[in-house]
Amino acid sequence: MAYAIPLWSPPALPVSDSKDLFPVRRIFCVGRNYVEHQKEMGGDGREAPFFFIKSAHAIVPPGGKVAYPPKTSNLHYETEMVVAIAKGGRRIPASEANAHIFGYGVGLDMTRRDLQQWGKDHGRPWDFGKDFDQAAPCSALAPAARIGHPAKGAIRLAVNDKLRQDADLSDMIWSVPEQIAYLSEYYHLEPGDLIFSGTPAGVGAVKAGDRLLASVDGVGSLEVTIAPAE
Ligand code: MN
Repeated sequence: MAYAIPLWSPPALPVSDSKDLFPVRRIFCVGRNYVEHQKEMGGDGREAPFFFIKSAHAIVPPGGKVAYPPKTSNLHYETEMVVAIAKGGRRIPASEANAHIFGYGVGLDMTRRDLQQWGKDHGRPWDFGKDFDQAAPCSALAPAARIGHPAKGAIRLAVNDKLRQDADLSDMIWSVPEQIAYLSEYYHLEPGDLIFSGTPAGVGAVKAGDRLLASVDGVGSLEVTIAPAE
């Protein structure tokens, strides 16, 4: 059986210290998961977790430039630790969640903040604000078998060498195992799923020519340059 149009390759991320690729199935992103960021977005520091989704095709493997996207004049970065699922399941208890994790990466939840805000103001979906071409740059994945399961350590972002986000993974409101437990009540998690685990305070706008360096201690780093709009 042939496909009617040429089949594309699955989106994938490199695995650090390996020739293997990790195929990406879905991208789940948790919103407002660090207290100080939750407050800067207008929250009270005590919100239940909520998620939104980006297409797997929004992934940008490390080393690429990211073009300034269309239809926005307020493109924001959000630095996040990314969790890669190797073993699927539903209703996974938090106490067993780590056994489902392949590894971790450093990602940028790029956001057309003006379109997201428009959606919030009008009771419309966030998709155009959050899910667009090249909206999810991500580093190589570091296997948990090598680095363990990071629950503390610095998460940082510098724009043009100026520190803009500087927090600790332990500042998460909902831990990674708690996120997996929550998500897996709503979805059958599958191998290849990614979870962007939320951003700390300090989000802000970037423009063409800016160089972003994101890092999570013990996980890795990701450098992205914003290219002119295409
Ligand atoms: Mn985010």
